[in-house]
Amino acid sequence: MNQILSNPFPYSNTNKRYHTFSYASKKIYGSKIAKIPLNASFTCPNRDGTKSVGGCTFCSAQGSGDSILLSASSLSSQYEVNLERARRKWPNAKGMAYFQSFSNTYAPLEILKAVYLPFFEDEQVEAIAIATRTDCFDEEKAAWLEVMQEKYNKDVWVEFGLQTIHPESEKAFNLCHTKEDARMAIALCQKHHLRSVLHLINGLPGEDRSMMIENAQFASSLHPTALKIHMLHLLENTVLGNAWKKEPFELLSLDEYIDIVCDQLEVIDPKIIIERVTGDGMADDLLAPMWTKNKTAVANAIDKELVRRQSMQGRFFDESDLSAKE
Ligand code: SF4
Repeated sequence: MNQILSNPFPYSNTNKRYHTFSYASKKIYGSKIAKIPLNASFTCPNRDGTKSVGGCTFCSAQGSGDSILLSASSLSSQYEVNLERARRKWPNAKGMAYFQSFSNTYAPLEILKAVYLPFFEDEQVEAIAIATRTDCFDEEKAAWLEVMQEKYNKDVWVEFGLQTIHPESEKAFNLCHTKEDARMAIALCQKHHLRSVLHLINGLPGEDRSMMIENAQFASSLHPTALKIHMLHLLENTVLGNAWKKEPFELLSLDEYIDIVCDQLEVIDPKIIIERVTGDGMADDLLAPMWTKNKTAVANAIDKELVRRQSMQGRFFDESDLSAKE
């Protein structure tokens, strides 16, 4: 077993025992990177009837882009307003254009070119992040992004929602994609030298601790550039939120979540960046769990638990175990 016993954690210059985005972005870009959320008004095949209607049962009407300032309409003004907002907090931050809402590669390539080209050309934009579904990404789009990345010397990060690898959960929450779609999407990014990110959701009803650890092990085994780990948020006007209001079901407590995230971090390759260990928790329409609103408290509790365990990301990471699971 590959136990990392060195201390401090090799991919950190703070007290963090996991590979944070803040640490990685300073290494890659030489400074703090602020992700500037954008809504390019795409839709999603899980909403428009191509794969399903209604979407993933936890998805809000904004298509998982709730933190975006919608009052600024054009993409360039959204970028300006949201960059200014970010720089109030981090005055020297460089901006990463983050296409967050819905599935941002769900359109013909010519439309994608019109959306993304101005951001490649804009010298104020340090890098571009594109959130999408694993089944909305293909060879043609990946190849074009690779050409643009090289031409403008601007990193492209492609973010995919995996959430879970368990077929019963995919069905229960109407995800309409599988872990095989994720395997193919990450392989396409690797082939075309694009950075890739996978999202996982903890606390899906019906998933126990061992299933959530398997989700993390599988995600790690695909070797994405980064992972995002979130707690399930129940939001107003979502299928899952409405079901919970009608008949409340049990959700993970803060302590359970902390414990599970630490278990997951221990099996994740330490080279993989952990962009998030909790969601934003900012949404006005959050129904539960309310503890997710205090993001700093969640992150601090994870740090504390890793110290208590004398542990860190990748402590029990074992590449040979992972290939056996594939
Ligand atoms: S794939 Fe994304 S945008 Fe589409 S329904 Fe699911 S969470 Fe919402």
